[in-house]
Amino acid sequence: MDDILIKNVLLFGKKKNVLIKGNRFSSISAPAFATARKVIDGSGMAILPPFYNTHTHAAMTLLRGFADDMQLHQWLHQYIWPFEEKLTASLIRKGSRIAVREMIKSGTVFFSDMYFDIEETIDIVRKYGMRAAIGVTFVESHSKSQQAEKLEMLKHWVDPSGGRITLTVAPHAIYTVGPDLLQQCSRTARDLGFKLHIHVAETRTEVDDCLRDHGTTPVRYLDKLGVLGPEVIAAHAVHIDEEEADILAARGVTIAHCPCSNQKLASGTFPYKMVRKAGCRITLGTDGASSNNNLDMREEMKFAALIAKGASGDPQTMPAAEAMEIATRNGAEAFGIDAGVIAKGKLADAILIRLDDESMKPLHHLVSNWVYAANSSIIDTVICDGRILMQHRELAI
Ligand SMILES: [Zn+2]
Repeated sequence: MDDILIKNVLLFGKKKNVLIKGNRFSSISAPAFATARKVIDGSGMAILPPFYNTHTHAAMTLLRGFADDMQLHQWLHQYIWPFEEKLTASLIRKGSRIAVREMIKSGTVFFSDMYFDIEETIDIVRKYGMRAAIGVTFVESHSKSQQAEKLEMLKHWVDPSGGRITLTVAPHAIYTVGPDLLQQCSRTARDLGFKLHIHVAETRTEVDDCLRDHGTTPVRYLDKLGVLGPEVIAAHAVHIDEEEADILAARGVTIAHCPCSNQKLASGTFPYKMVRKAGCRITLGTDGASSNNNLDMREEMKFAALIAKGASGDPQTMPAAEAMEIATRNGAEAFGIDAGVIAKGKLADAILIRLDDESMKPLHHLVSNWVYAANSSIIDTVICDGRILMQHRELAI
């Protein structure tokens, strides 16, 4: 891996030379005489942390625009599930490639996935040089032998990328996975040291069904089963009350907030202000392209901020810097990736954005422009783990 020197790039309001040695930042203020095998002219650009997308279904890019603007039940039963039944490994590979290319071009270096035929997605991630936590998905309808196969896969996991890819134990949701299997997934995640990735309280129907079947709400039900802990990544968590937010915070659960998907499917509005007050770690995810309809985390960041303000009636809710933090640093931290900030010693994940674009002018406030005004086409360069994945908007492969 060549050392990389980024010269004259804007960092925290000042022009700096940023030096990457191996896969880490070795200096964020290198002297003018510093040199490296690969030199990037950062003039007219700013360096920022890239995005960490904590909830998606990458291969669902294949269903982008396939079925929009309808009730969730009709959407799932008449369109999404029948389509998914026809998916083959080679189609999953195609969908994953589209997703990975789209994510890199929009500044994302990591995603937490939940789907099937995961070998294909893993191979695409490895080739393109991204990071990922790929969910080994569990649903009750799988046969015992399929489930045993999945457990074996988790037990014998070897990262083919040398540190960028891991697995997660991913019981799909409480309405597709029964209590015994949920507890088995939880034990497996804890024993093997994986995260547990699950959809939680996404819709009102999920809560009503949980009350009917288990006499309590989804978060309380999972807590009763002993499933909630610091390894849990709970996607959505839209329909939760104050006490449930406190439970999630007390157990150290990370929330993957997916504002675009929640609004497009009219699932409900995530109670950001309340959940933040409870002290939960909040991260950001796009969900799949079938309900978003893109994987653009910059756009997600803007939606998250605007919806949080609108819902709370308070424009001070989720300021721009906080929106950026949940889309970057919080996601990296949740998955134990020593990155998400541009700082000496941290893993070298970064994006360079062009400041000559009209959306960045005038530059009263860089982060404000980035969150509220720009779009991801101003991303010139994407670096992940000390490797250039895109430069001048050309992907490395
Ligand atoms: Zn999802």
